[in-house]
Amino acid sequence: MSAQFIDGKAISASIRQEIREETARLAERGIRPGLVVILVGDDAASQVYVRNKAKACEELGYHSEVVRLPAETSQHELLGLIERYNADPAIHGILVQLPLPKHLEEKPVIDAIAVEKDVDGFHPVSVGNLMIGDDALLPCTPSGVIELLKRSGISPAGKHAVVIGRSNIVGKPVSMLLLRENATVTICHSRTPDLPAVARQADILVVAVGVAKLVKKDWVKPGAVVIDVGMNRLENGKLAGDVDFDDVVETAGWITPVPGGVGPMTITMLMANTLKSCKRANGMG
Ligand code: NAD
Repeated sequence: MSAQFIDGKAISASIRQEIREETARLAERGIRPGLVVILVGDDAASQVYVRNKAKACEELGYHSEVVRLPAETSQHELLGLIERYNADPAIHGILVQLPLPKHLEEKPVIDAIAVEKDVDGFHPVSVGNLMIGDDALLPCTPSGVIELLKRSGISPAGKHAVVIGRSNIVGKPVSMLLLRENATVTICHSRTPDLPAVARQADILVVAVGVAKLVKKDWVKPGAVVIDVGMNRLENGKLAGDVDFDDVVETAGWITPVPGGVGPMTITMLMANTLKSCKRANGMG
């Protein structure tokens, strides 16, 4: 039997509808979530991401600012700008689009963002809060994965989740969130021996590697939930996940397509974080 699709587009649309309704209620009280996105340089992919984030803000009724800085911007200038937005009461989320041009250091830039406005969830304090189970602003793609599971009626509790990939952006935080949801979690990476055998033990398999179509059907336990975070551009211009979808679809019980699975959730969770930060700033939770 073919796997059931986990429809990221539909789930994302329903979360955005909830956010829209809440934003409208806040507007009646004169409160408006605000997000600033700072882009340094002219990386083509980043331009698209930034445009999409601004568009999402507009659709939801948020206050949105996009600051486009030249590639030669200095660290000092960038930190000064972040300081300004840290102190700006109209702004509840500050996002510096990564990667930065090579002469800029990422870590001091991320560290400079006020923790309560860290809507990417990359600040070391946010990461620490996630680790100890405090109510942090969670990184967007990993929290999107958890929402996809929950809203598809899949509870991680008591399940064996295997995560392939240990990046700070996806692999590690999604592992922590699955642990928080009471899954038993195994984290795999490029030095894990016999990866297919470990993956085959998973009730929930989350793949965040960056290698197109790496996961084949003999990596998947029949009926398992397969969450494909990968986004790889093929030579023919098409987007492919880290999972060989056509090969795996008959074996898995549930599967996320690429595109249309995890992808749409990332910006949606960014919007959810901005709303959360705005409510907190106004003494509402
Ligand atoms: P990364 O390069 O930072 O990390 C990749 C991880 O995979 C590393 O921990 C590495 O140990 C592991 N790895 C590499 N090759 C491996 C192999 N052959 N076998 C097992 N493990 C291996 O990447 P990332 O930022 O975590 O992103 C992973 C993928 O997810 C990419 O395709 C990226 O484009 C995608 N991504 C998608 C979204 C989204 O919004 N859907 C967001 C972030 C990342």
